[in-house]
Amino acid sequence: MSLFYHSTRGFSEPVTSKQAILEGIAPDGGLFVSDGVLTPCLDPAQLLANDYDANARLVLGKQLPDFSEQEVAGCVRRAYTGTFDSPAVTPVTAVGDDWLLELFHGPTSAFKDVALQMLPQLMGVARQGDGREVMVVTATSGDTGKAALAGFTDKPGTGVCVFYPDGGVSDVQRLQMVTQAGDNVAVCAVSGTFDDAQTQVKRAFGDRALAERLAEKGQVLSSANSINVGRLAPQVTYYLDAYLQLVRTGALELGDELDFFVPTGNFGDVLAGYYAKRMGLPVGRLVVCSNANDVLYDFLRTGVYDRRRDFHRTISPSMDILVSSNLERLLYLASDGDVELVSSLMRDLAEKGVYTVPERLMEQVRASFSCGRADDERTRATIGRTWREEGVLLDPHTGVAKAVMDETEPSGHVRVALATASPFKFSRSVLQAIGEDDSSLSDFQCMDVLAERTGLTPPAQLSDLREREVRFTDVIAPEEVPAYVEQACARVFGTAREVAASSEVCE
Ligand SMILES: *Cc1c(COP(=O)(O)O)cnc(C)c1O
Repeated sequence: MSLFYHSTRGFSEPVTSKQAILEGIAPDGGLFVSDGVLTPCLDPAQLLANDYDANARLVLGKQLPDFSEQEVAGCVRRAYTGTFDSPAVTPVTAVGDDWLLELFHGPTSAFKDVALQMLPQLMGVARQGDGREVMVVTATSGDTGKAALAGFTDKPGTGVCVFYPDGGVSDVQRLQMVTQAGDNVAVCAVSGTFDDAQTQVKRAFGDRALAERLAEKGQVLSSANSINVGRLAPQVTYYLDAYLQLVRTGALELGDELDFFVPTGNFGDVLAGYYAKRMGLPVGRLVVCSNANDVLYDFLRTGVYDRRRDFHRTISPSMDILVSSNLERLLYLASDGDVELVSSLMRDLAEKGVYTVPERLMEQVRASFSCGRADDERTRATIGRTWREEGVLLDPHTGVAKAVMDETEPSGHVRVALATASPFKFSRSVLQAIGEDDSSLSDFQCMDVLAERTGLTPPAQLSDLREREVRFTDVIAPEEVPAYVEQACARVFGTAREVAASSEVCE
């Protein structure tokens, strides 16, 4: 079977994984998939001695067949050496009779670091022999922007430009972005909503005249969104690693199936679990956990994906999503590569805002996926109870997964909830959930009070923010985004060239 990648919507123009990573999205608007890389190859019995890096090398090597062993090894070393504050990278810890897979020990305290520390490394390798300078442009509702900044800052030949909704992110999230150090970064507020910013970023990507002007200077735009193969591939690692951790501690018998409860937004995280299963890991149920934006919950029960509904702002904002882009990859895989079906479903979504999946395909999907949902009230109650009864403090995204796990009938399998953010990143909501009054407090005071009441220490990269210098204060109208991107390219790559030129002179 082919080790090349192609679009979920057609087989024309197969590309290597390096090209797929550089381009982000297929030319026809589909997502890159490969038919040959998800073959059974992960046998836990053979891998018990593997540490996280060894697992990452194995999992990435399989999915990115045109990367050499040395290239993969270099990427893994640079991505995960000294960047996570746990030697296990993603440690598994106990919560009652179940387990948490802690994915928030990276530089921005959210799970997106696992992939966004890796993506710049993969892009760096993919760029070799390409020669173009890559400007990564992203609109963010909070977590992705900072994780992309942390990953791409000072990476040669790349720049990163982040847009966030003015007044639409928390103080902590805003400061995480506007205090970002580095010469190749741009951060800008947009006077509008996240959707306004996102729409304009997409406009910049689709602007042919802009693309041509940049191409003349050897520059190209790319995306750090979770549709990129280079963001999805690294996430498979922690499913395997969690399995091995649990076998080593004696909690799990080799060969037994493990159930995962995954707080879900864009469907990237839980899809990586499905990839692990297709690659041979004994995965039982993958439980998609939704907040009040329960479009996936309805889909998995009815087979109808309907985005025509009210959007809810919740205490788990990184899951406030109505179009879960990566679901398209699952539809492709579960239908055995029926690109015509996927194309017609995606056309329905674009034109009507709704699509209906044939029952035989839903049977395939339901063979691996279950679903559950928790609104803010139940999530808060779960955070409060888990703190009081287990002494474990959850953030609101993890709280959704734990709430769903708590109400699900035990399957007989060992169960793991994916813990996707540090509770200190969402101090106000967590403080409310454990029954403290936050009404007169600033975000940072909430962090201090939460630390005091729980005896836990906030990650330094969050508590230090209030002392950092603010570097970015631009606020623009949404329509100005494409022009801002072009200026950012000129500034970032112009400076980089001058620096390169002057250092040559010095030598
Ligand atoms: C992005 C994010 C999620 C959702 O992950 P998806 O891959 O989009 O499904 C959950 N929790 C947190 C904290 C996140 O930042």
